[in-house]
Amino acid sequence: MTSATIERVETCLVDLPTIRPHKLSVATMHGQTLMLVKVYASDGVVGIGEGTTIAGLAYGPESPESMKLAIDAYFAPAMIGRDATRIQALMAHLGKLVKVNHFAKSALETALLDAQGKRLGVPVSELLGGRRRDRLPVAWTLASGDTAKDIAEAERMLEARRHKVFKLKIGAKPLKDDIAHVAAIKRQLGDRGAVRVDVNMAWSETQAAWAIPALADAGCELVEQPVASAAALARLVRRFPVALMADEVLQGPESAFEIAKQQGADVFAIKIEQSGGLFAAQRVAAIADAAGIELYGGTMLEGAFSTVASAHLFASFANLQWGTELFGPLLITEEILATPLDYSDFELTVPAGPGLGIELDEARVKRFVRDGLMKVTR
Ligand SMILES: [Mg+2]
Repeated sequence: MTSATIERVETCLVDLPTIRPHKLSVATMHGQTLMLVKVYASDGVVGIGEGTTIAGLAYGPESPESMKLAIDAYFAPAMIGRDATRIQALMAHLGKLVKVNHFAKSALETALLDAQGKRLGVPVSELLGGRRRDRLPVAWTLASGDTAKDIAEAERMLEARRHKVFKLKIGAKPLKDDIAHVAAIKRQLGDRGAVRVDVNMAWSETQAAWAIPALADAGCELVEQPVASAAALARLVRRFPVALMADEVLQGPESAFEIAKQQGADVFAIKIEQSGGLFAAQRVAAIADAAGIELYGGTMLEGAFSTVASAHLFASFANLQWGTELFGPLLITEEILATPLDYSDFELTVPAGPGLGIELDEARVKRFVRDGLMKVTR
């Protein structure tokens, strides 16, 4: 066993433009902020992790700024001098010092796994039990807020053979408008493209009960988090045959167990940040498998680092019935990697090199780092 202690932890915020506004029921995003963390070890190995959210604090309790603050003030000082190779022990130690803060923990765990993979010369997927697949299907989210623009965008994605599964963000408009929007897009795409929706908790249970059969009639194959309440979602699962997916209510293994116990979803959207890290997400997947709940690889609209970390994990899953939505880097206009990721033939290739298997383009990223906030803890 190699030994290496943590010598330095660096954090920064990177503000990147997006290709278009991204409209959800909770907010409209006009850019994406990545919180990047670098962990330097005594053997010269550096690991990089990332934390992102959807529209600042509009989606959940953490923001890129709060993750950075939590790492700078609490996590990093507790990591200095600790063994960088004992990741689960170190994360358990940090878990005693800092409650919840799932996104920040996911970023740190990603950096530690990236470093350990580089140290051992193996991809992160092999540290997670070993990959079962090298390519992952990737859905695209249509969220321009305009039906004609969404149809044109879907046609471009089909033409380029980049995506053939489309998730529509709905819930901000009146129900009838949303259903007309979904029906128009599905009618245009026909069998060439699958259509799913994400309501991001916007509906009440009675609204959902009215809308779900209409969505099914329109050809929608999956409805993601139509309501906020886990209990209401469980009742809807019993009432309607169309697949219902839990996302926001899944906040790590304990919540996964509670939902599984009441057969509260057909599908789990697994996210490394929302779960509290890659190992926690792995436990969520195990609970789903044991309960007969199907799996989907979710995204927090992450940049390349968290997207690739997720890809390594999802590549190791026994079941991934609904594919993934790991398109986050494609929503950002700027390439932050030395070598771009391979999105082709409707799939993403999971990098094969040591660690995450990707390299940050330092010079390029420097231009987008938020001024005055780079922090080094040693
Ligand atoms: Mg969602």
